[in-house]
Amino acid sequence: MHKESKVFIAGHRGMVGSAILRGLQKRGFSNFVLKTSAECDLRRQADVESLFEVERPDYVFLAAAKVGGINANNTYRAEFLHDNLMIQNNVIHSAWKFQSTKLMFLGSSCIYPKLAPQPLKEDYLLTGLLEETNEPYAIAKIAGIKMCEAYRDQYGCNFVSVMPTNLYGPNDNYDLKNSHVLPALIRKFHDAKVSGASEVEVWGTGSPKREFLHVDDMAEACIYLMEKFDAKPHSKAPSFLNIGWGEDISIKDLGLLIKDIVGFQGTLKFDTSKPDGTPRKLMDTSRLSAMGFKPTITLEQGIGSVYREFVKTYSSSGI
Ligand code: GDP
Repeated sequence: MHKESKVFIAGHRGMVGSAILRGLQKRGFSNFVLKTSAECDLRRQADVESLFEVERPDYVFLAAAKVGGINANNTYRAEFLHDNLMIQNNVIHSAWKFQSTKLMFLGSSCIYPKLAPQPLKEDYLLTGLLEETNEPYAIAKIAGIKMCEAYRDQYGCNFVSVMPTNLYGPNDNYDLKNSHVLPALIRKFHDAKVSGASEVEVWGTGSPKREFLHVDDMAEACIYLMEKFDAKPHSKAPSFLNIGWGEDISIKDLGLLIKDIVGFQGTLKFDTSKPDGTPRKLMDTSRLSAMGFKPTITLEQGIGSVYREFVKTYSSSGI
C-alpha cells in the first residue's frame, strides 16, 4: 500500500472501520472510497458491483457487518446470518471481479468451537460445535474466511482474513439490550452512579472469561497486516490470523474494574436467567506476534479513555 492507493473501507462509520480510517489518515492516506449505507447498501449486489465498477479500489478493508452482543446475536438470528453473508459475498466477489490488489476480511473469535482448547489457535476452526447464541453470526464469518480462501486458491486473489477478539473503543454501541458486555457495563455503572442506585445488574454468572482489545490496536494490526500478511494459494497453514491482547478476564472482574474506573460505590448483582455464552474465548496470538505485531493499550488505559469519551458524548447527546 502506498499513500496514493485507493482504499475502500466497507463499514467506515462503524467502530472498527472508523478506527482503520483514522489510522490510515494519520499515515497520510487520503484516497478513500467511503460510502454510507444510504449511498450503497452492501447487502445489494447491484449497489456493490456498481461501486466497484466506478471506483475500482486497490485495497479493501471489509469491516462492514451486522454486529452486537449476546442478546442481539441470539434475537436477530436471521439478520445476523443473512445480512453478513450478503455483505461479504458481494464485496469479496466484486473485489475479484474488478481486480482489487488486496482484500482483508474481518471476522470474530466466535468462529471457534464452543468448547475448543484455550488459547484458541487458528487450527481449531471447524473442529467442533459452535456456541448456540451466536451460531448464525459465526457461520457467516466462517463462510467469509472460506470465500477468501476459495478465491485465493482458484484465482490467486490476495484475500486474507483476521479474527479479532472482543473489541471496544470510540464509536461503540451503548444500547443496553444489543451491545457487548464492556460498553453495556460502562453505561450501567455510570447510570447507577448518577442515579445513586445501590446495585448494578450483570448478566449471567460472572464466571465466563473474555479477552478485550482496544479498537485502535485492532486498526494498527489491520494496517500492519495489510502490508505484511499475504495470501498463499493452496498453503496448508491457516489463511487467517487471530488478533488479540493475549490475556483474558472474568466478567465479574471486568465488572469490578469498570465499577472502580467509573467510581460507583454499590454492588454487582448477577442475573443468572441471562445466558453466559461461551465459557472462555482467549485467542492464541503467537502467529500475530511472530509477524512482529504487539498491541499496546492496556485494559485499564482503554476503559479509562473510553469512559471519558462516553461521559462527553453521553452528557451532550443524552443517549
Ligand atoms: P459474547 O462474547 O459473544 O458472549 O458477547 P457479550 O459481550 O454480549 O457477552 C459476554 C459475557 O458478558 C456473557 O457472558 C454475558 O452474559 C456477560 N454480560 C454480563 N452483563 C452483560 C451486559 O450487560 N450486556 C452484555 N451484552 N453481556 C453481559
